[in-house]
Amino acid sequence: IVQCVEVRKSFGALEVLKGISLSVRKGEVICIIGPSGSGKSTLIRCINALQPISSGSIQIEGIEVTDPRLDKLALRRKVGMVFQQYNLFPHKTALQNVMMAPIHVLRQDRAEVEMRARALLAKVRLAGKEDSYPGELSGGQQQRVAIARSLAMRPDIMLFDEVTAALDPETVKEVLVTIRELAEDGMTCILVTHEMNFAREVADHVYFTDRGVIVEHGPPETLFTAAKDERTQRFLSQVL
Ligand code: ATP
Ligand code: MG
Repeated sequence: IVQCVEVRKSFGALEVLKGISLSVRKGEVICIIGPSGSGKSTLIRCINALQPISSGSIQIEGIEVTDPRLDKLALRRKVGMVFQQYNLFPHKTALQNVMMAPIHVLRQDRAEVEMRARALLAKVRLAGKEDSYPGELSGGQQQRVAIARSLAMRPDIMLFDEVTAALDPETVKEVLVTIRELAEDGMTCILVTHEMNFAREVADHVYFTDRGVIVEHGPPETLFTAAKDERTQRFLSQVL
């Protein structure tokens, strides 16, 4: 469903992605781990066509993301994305935040959208918080509103970039539970995370990146216990 081949990306003289190849099948959950500055967020942004790549190819459901004629709106309808900063609209309630895109972008019927938005908030375990404003919610609750908002567009793929990095330890767990439930429902997920135990638990495949290259990848049970590359071993010994 997602195929990256030899993706390169430079900012001026700085080459941040140096030939990244990876593929994700429908329903699969992949985790991207690696040190700060290794290019993980850049890769996620390139997959969602938020940034152009310098060379290589990225295909989503057979559509070339780098094609200049690409309909970016159509792409972003298929690909949901949640960042570290939840970026909810502060003057809209949880429910209104979730309803906004289907009404204004997809121009769907308001009553139907509201019903589905309520169901999505219940799914991320926020029933009862529909009328709360972001400022009245904890970080973990806001992040789950952001996830529900992405799901409201009925994406085929979800991208998560360190969605728990800004949260208190107590609220990290509730967000991870939400993501795990999504994965169990069969959503295709690409997640960048520093939560190694979580990666180990939910990922079908883990990619370790360092300085713009994929050093090593494999199923979590292999990567976390029998990493072959010295850089992977060193990274894991620091974070596990
Ligand atoms: P972290 O774990 O800290 O989030 P990361 O792996 O997500 O790190 P990126 O954010 O992808 O790393 O950044 C990789 C490199 O690219 C960094 O050296 C960063 O300074 C550089 N970089 C990222 N975005 C830009 C930009 N818009 N212009 C110039 N350089 C950039
Ligand atoms: Mg990042």
